[in-house]
Amino acid sequence: MPKADGADEALNRVNPHSRPSDLRITDMRVAEIIGAPFTSALIKIYTNQGIVGLGEVRDGASATYALMLKSRLLGENPCDIDRLFRRIKQFGGHGRQGGGVSAVEIALWDLAGKAYGVPIYQMLGGRFRDKVRVYCDTDATVPSGTATGKRLKERMDLGFTFLKMDLGLMQIADVPGAVVFPAGSLEGYRDSPRRGPLKTIEERRLRNAAYDLHNVPHPFTGLHFSDKGLDLLEQYIAEVREVIGMDVPLAIDHIGHISMQNGIRLARRIEKYVPAWLEDVIPWQYTEQYRQLQDATTIPICTGEDIYLKEGFEPLLKSGGVSVIHPDLLTSGGILETKKIGDMAQDHGVAMAIHMAESPIAAMAAAHVATATENFMALEYHSADVDWWDDIVTGLSRPLVKDGFITVPDKPGLGIDDVVDEVISQHLQPGVTGIWQPTDRWDDEYSWDRTWS
Ligand SMILES: [Mg+2]
Repeated sequence: MPKADGADEALNRVNPHSRPSDLRITDMRVAEIIGAPFTSALIKIYTNQGIVGLGEVRDGASATYALMLKSRLLGENPCDIDRLFRRIKQFGGHGRQGGGVSAVEIALWDLAGKAYGVPIYQMLGGRFRDKVRVYCDTDATVPSGTATGKRLKERMDLGFTFLKMDLGLMQIADVPGAVVFPAGSLEGYRDSPRRGPLKTIEERRLRNAAYDLHNVPHPFTGLHFSDKGLDLLEQYIAEVREVIGMDVPLAIDHIGHISMQNGIRLARRIEKYVPAWLEDVIPWQYTEQYRQLQDATTIPICTGEDIYLKEGFEPLLKSGGVSVIHPDLLTSGGILETKKIGDMAQDHGVAMAIHMAESPIAAMAAAHVATATENFMALEYHSADVDWWDDIVTGLSRPLVKDGFITVPDKPGLGIDDVVDEVISQHLQPGVTGIWQPTDRWDDEYSWDRTWS
């Protein structure tokens, strides 16, 4: 698939990795998959020397965010990672909009590592640890804390030493008297916007309406926990701790679209169960509310999976509103940016956990940063129940997550040999007809995108 001329191909057979100065980007293609555990797009960046860089567009994001960058990269030397990152970073944004820039940045690091024969963590400054602690996220959709505790205990029996679960509106929304809410307002949250191709105008209107509803910021929903609701949530985590014990760290996520004041009320109720952190209680943009939230509880307050670039984290860190940051490499801007974010957090006495909910490509990118960043705490793993997750790639130890840790190999780049097409072909997103299909339509995408005059 790489577009190389005959002379280049002949040289490639002699030693494909010997001329990094002459390495050039020739193509970018994607494979849009589902179920590993959510949706994501694997990307390949091809070169004139036969080596291919792997990246991944964030869970839930569109592959378009990466493909629209292709024309800005063709003909460039992928080893100029920072220069190219600075060229394309204006095309990323917070949340899923950071997915394309971040995917490309990771693929460039993979290519540079392969070109020079060096693992990425080494290029970042070397090891702080021999293995990367992984925390196992477990959706707590069941109404019983005891049942969720048993699921978490099974994770511990697999070797996991750090856990996360949901605690909030989802457990009590259907219990009469547990949530104070404007009449009818809870109904909409039960439906998420539909994925995949839609047929009618009305279906499209409904998807957009659901999108709008799910985008109402927490302070504006009018939802509150009642004392009964708080009793139930306290009972839930008490039951979980009863099963898993007090020794193992347990982080809390998905509290629901409630206000900062409700977050404080919940936090004070569950402090005695010593959560590792409370995650995304309110939108990360409300810096001053984060400071009030952290000031009001002894539980470490955490956010960051939707923040793009180092400068997005800076106000929160300066405010003292967070005790743990939680960037996702596929939103933050990729590998080097997350290393910088971690180091900046360390200067503020703040730990870094890493959010990750995609394939082994994203996991390895995160694991390299975790290996090379001193204040790293734990890396998310959301695929403990996906039995084909390890089959997506070749060249890594199997299982990649073993006894609750990832061991980063000394192999060049991410350390992945290849993607297994037969496996990912069985898990394509709705409406997707194939993998690594030609993307020529993006070759000439261009506009005068200077952001100043
Ligand atoms: Mg989260």
